[in-house]
Amino acid sequence: MSITPLMPVYPRCGVRPVRGDHCHLIDEDGTRYLDFASGIAVNLLGHSHDGLIGAIQRQAATLMHVSNLYGSPQGEALAERLVDKTFADTVFFTNSGAEAVECAIKTARAYHQQAGNGERYELITFKNAFHGRTMATISASNQEKMHKGFMPLLGGFKYVDFDDLEGAKAAVGPNTAGFLVEPIQGEGGIRPASDAFMKGLRALADEHDLMLVLDEVQCGVARTGKLYAYEHYGIEPDILATAKGIGGGFPLGACLATENAARGMGFGTHGSTYGGNPLAMAAGMAVMDAVANDEFLAEVTVKGERIRARLEQFIGNYPDLFELVRGKGLMLGIKMKVESRPFFVHLRDNHQLLTVAAGDNTLRVLPPLVIGDAEIDEFFDKLSAGAADYVIPEAV
Ligand SMILES: *Cc1c(COP(=O)(O)O)cnc(C)c1O
Repeated sequence: MSITPLMPVYPRCGVRPVRGDHCHLIDEDGTRYLDFASGIAVNLLGHSHDGLIGAIQRQAATLMHVSNLYGSPQGEALAERLVDKTFADTVFFTNSGAEAVECAIKTARAYHQQAGNGERYELITFKNAFHGRTMATISASNQEKMHKGFMPLLGGFKYVDFDDLEGAKAAVGPNTAGFLVEPIQGEGGIRPASDAFMKGLRALADEHDLMLVLDEVQCGVARTGKLYAYEHYGIEPDILATAKGIGGGFPLGACLATENAARGMGFGTHGSTYGGNPLAMAAGMAVMDAVANDEFLAEVTVKGERIRARLEQFIGNYPDLFELVRGKGLMLGIKMKVESRPFFVHLRDNHQLLTVAAGDNTLRVLPPLVIGDAEIDEFFDKLSAGAADYVIPEAV
């Protein structure tokens, strides 16, 4: 047998973390890495947050799991908190981002089918989007590398260029149920949608009674300096998928919706065995306690602006390597003029700096939201050293 016990779907690198220490990861052999990847925008409180650890420990010792057949004081409390802080009136808890998007897709379809409009099942989605790895969520993306080997796709998705309002408008037809969009594309290369695009989609949705569904799995939960990124655009969605940061490292996601949008989601229409169990709710509540307040969000904005200003200055020293900086808050991307993946590997292996590679030759900078000046300085030390001794690999 040559297949590995872990199904070999990830090309795993040599970094093998066994311990976290605030904003650092410590490898099996004791090497310390500065973690500006955060498990891909997950560990927003870093790796040793007392509030989060304590909440999980206490809940684990009290009650970890019960079925959703029983009443859930823990779920009600977190759902109420999210309803209080967002556009939403109701929440369905999941264990991952893809499941949150799945629930969002079902909610958008059910909105029309409940009203007897079964022909309105199609969601308009946007090129280079990433919505997860289930059959529905790979079908929602036009990226062929995720489709290969898994045909046929699920029907009911139409792909349009990202940030192209005219294209979106032209795609609306009798089968359209709504739009599914990341306000800031993550895997696609930290590409924020324009104001005009997001406002335009909202207006189109209003005009044609369509669902505006946001995938905020990566950009949500304080990452951009707002609790959710839609707040930057002065609009509200009908349905929103959130995950990644919301559990701070504990597997948790949620589908948020207005009362109107959730009209098709009655008893028996959807479910999840683990979704919203007391342990997950304790983690989610600890994260909300830490991030869902103006002081914390303002600090994310300030830190994001500080890093961005220094990055803009820094990339000017290497005009052959870097093109521009984009993003919002602490969701930043450095678009490179050369392939970004080998540079990301160089930073990781030669300078013990963890970032994330993304589409469009972009290097994702996604630090824990609790970084301080010391971590920011360390980041720039490592990045500067990494740029200074980088040798662009020969094209093969
Ligand atoms: C990561 C991600 C997902 C999928 O989340 P999983 O927890 O991996 O299922 C969906 N949408 C976006 C925008 C993401 O970044």
